[in-house]
Amino acid sequence: MSSSYSQSFGNVAADRQRTTGASTSIEEFHSVLKSSRRILALCGAGLSAASGLGTFRGAGGMWHNYQATALATPEAFEHDPGLVWLFYAYRRSKALQAKPNAGHFALAKCAEVMNGNADKGEFLCLTQNVDGLHQRANHPDSQLKLLHSSIFDLKCHSCDYIDKNNFSDPVHPSLVIEGDGPPPQLSKKASNTVSAQAAYLDPNTELTIPLDQLPHCPNCKDGLLRPGVVWFGEALPYNTISETYDWIDAEKKIDLCLVIGTTATVYPAAGYVDTAREKGARIVVINMDVNELGAAGSLRKGDFLFEGDSARILPEILRPVVGDLGSLGLEAEAGVKSKKVEDTKNVAGEEEDEVIKYFEASP
Ligand SMILES: [Zn+2]
Repeated sequence: MSSSYSQSFGNVAADRQRTTGASTSIEEFHSVLKSSRRILALCGAGLSAASGLGTFRGAGGMWHNYQATALATPEAFEHDPGLVWLFYAYRRSKALQAKPNAGHFALAKCAEVMNGNADKGEFLCLTQNVDGLHQRANHPDSQLKLLHSSIFDLKCHSCDYIDKNNFSDPVHPSLVIEGDGPPPQLSKKASNTVSAQAAYLDPNTELTIPLDQLPHCPNCKDGLLRPGVVWFGEALPYNTISETYDWIDAEKKIDLCLVIGTTATVYPAAGYVDTAREKGARIVVINMDVNELGAAGSLRKGDFLFEGDSARILPEILRPVVGDLGSLGLEAEAGVKSKKVEDTKNVAGEEEDEVIKYFEASP
């Protein structure tokens, strides 16, 4: 991209600058970035939206006749594991059709450069996204914390077995997903919303897929494998949270806190922004819609605000560290066979949904 357009991103950002004092200048940001030694990045659904990956947070959050949030619970899995598995098999398939975007690659490169050289400091990326796109952009593992784990982790519902970054598709022979239509296993079930939800709640409902046809644990043999994501009502992964706090609480200043494609309204994400601020960080918001920023919105003089597509903005603002990415790595993925992106609908606007906001970055 030429530098001629890079004075600022967006008129709304310019309006907001007048009220918050946050800068929209890329040149100003570059000079701050060059002297920054420790950077925390917090990523949400907006980053995945730039890869054309939808979420189930807006428009009622429905998957066929089922409310997506109702399927993302341990109770749903215990009630009808085949139904929950089909939902996640669909999401795994969609995520594999999507590709990491230039924003993912810029973050990965930034982590690699900053952590590979002690003089240049440290970079830690916390993500609420479960879609595996950071990993497929070769983000260094030690600089990536998956707050809600990943739909590509498989873990046993009974023992401690876990299989990380399993990108096989289908994940199991009985979980084949073809297109966007209902999987054949669902078609025998009720065909309208009310009866489908009622059937789901009915303890006598026939299982969507018989238990013996679902993936089982290779360790204990008896336990069912389940998606490794953090479901509603479950604790966030202890080691991830603990390591994140160790990094944030270290006796060192944090120079920048990038808040990318998320309103950061949900704890612990919201708390990370506050803590980074207390440790001296300037807050840098990158979002499609800067009118609704939640916890990321309390900007002041010294902070930055960039409105627009994070896939376009991140390579530009991180250029002094990552260089000119060009097409570097945009096709290269860590051992994953990429497929054609079929759904390029931008869903960043879904962040505005009031009801679903609580469930930001739904598992
Ligand atoms: Zn097991």
